[in-house]
Amino acid sequence: MSDNQNDNIDPTSPRKAPKPEPKKIKGRELKPSTLMMGHGYDPTLSEGSLKPPIFLTSTFAFPSAADGKRHFEGITGKRPGGADGLVYSRFNAPNQEILEDRLAIWDGAEDALSFSSGMTAICVLMLAYASQGDVIVHSGPLYAASEGFIAKVLAKFGVQYVDFAAGATREEIDAVLEKAKTMASDAGGKVCMLYLESPGNPTNALVDIEAVRDARDAALDWSCPIAIDNTFLGPLWQRPLDHGADIVVYSLTKYVGGHSDLVAGSIAGAKKWMDPVRALRNTMGGICDPNTAWMLLRSLETVELRMQRAGENAIKVCKFLAGHEKVEGLGYLGMIKDARQQDIYERHCLGAGSTFSVFIKGGEAECFRFLDNLKIAKLAVSLGGTETLASHPASMTHLSVAEGRRTELGISDNLVRISIGIEDADDLIADFAQALETV
Ligand SMILES: *Cc1c(COP(=O)(O)O)cnc(C)c1O
Repeated sequence: MSDNQNDNIDPTSPRKAPKPEPKKIKGRELKPSTLMMGHGYDPTLSEGSLKPPIFLTSTFAFPSAADGKRHFEGITGKRPGGADGLVYSRFNAPNQEILEDRLAIWDGAEDALSFSSGMTAICVLMLAYASQGDVIVHSGPLYAASEGFIAKVLAKFGVQYVDFAAGATREEIDAVLEKAKTMASDAGGKVCMLYLESPGNPTNALVDIEAVRDARDAALDWSCPIAIDNTFLGPLWQRPLDHGADIVVYSLTKYVGGHSDLVAGSIAGAKKWMDPVRALRNTMGGICDPNTAWMLLRSLETVELRMQRAGENAIKVCKFLAGHEKVEGLGYLGMIKDARQQDIYERHCLGAGSTFSVFIKGGEAECFRFLDNLKIAKLAVSLGGTETLASHPASMTHLSVAEGRRTELGISDNLVRISIGIEDADDLIADFAQALETV
């Protein structure tokens, strides 16, 4: 919800939502895991219901015509910072506002916006910032649909792109930014966004966010946001806003939702970066629905517990896999071989997470045998759920990526991607052991 205070607001008029609870007790900053149980929701406004009700309504009754006018001034941007009252469920609604308040806490952001999917968040974000002739600079690899949206959909509207490999050094990023500036000025546009994904899917290659920030500050004298898809490590193991990113992007479908039972997305950052995106979401729709928002509030209460347990399981499973004769190698952030990647990891990451790749000795046939023989781990795409999932990116999630580009990105035929859940670690190891025996 907006913190906009206006002295003209009638204190007796029902507010759309309570003021957020204090985030401190006697100077002590409360931790996100504490705030997830109550922040942004006041039971006294809902018959004392401990949990927020699900508000199934398309529209909200205004206390007075003057309130309606003031709320629309917020919606239309005549007053900055969004509406300070509930208006219509394409713009805002209680469950979504509580969710957005709580999501912002995890990333230390001023504001957050929820969406009906991760891809809706990404598409609305990019559309809000890109104009004809502009250039988006992005890291590679990206989630295939993100890459497709930039290269195929935005291209239809005259938006160009140029990319750099995830591990690129400051000098390499500088060179790409110079190229992007030339492309933009030739087309009468600007570099409108630096869009990162780190770690990249499925190889886990990390982007040096600090180097991207320094390169942006040196090369561009206009305000060009750095956005980053933090789905794989966030919100627990990487806090990109602390390292120079302006906007954090999530597929909430993954770790945040965490139970493989919903699809949603979000972005978070300073209000000035959120405002154009909020305006476009108001126009296009794409806000998360109230039922999903409620489910996500449930999920946020345990996100820290789940990610910690899955992370501990992943360490044990990877130790086992790393020593196995049928395993050629691992793409796991807890066992990085490359010095440059390790340096980025130490500066940016608070943990290795629980999604990684295993390179099985052999090729597609060996990977398929391994996948078909798993008994606990499920054969499915997606990640970040309570249950362990395994998939074969080259023939599934990344099938649409041209073969040459796949090779360039290290998405080989012998790569299996695994997302570790919160089962018993030794049971998982027993499962991987018996499946590897069949290879
Ligand atoms: C799943 C995913 C997305 C897309 O999210 P949806 O919720 O499926 O739309 C974007 N980025 C990454 C890294 C993902 O894993």
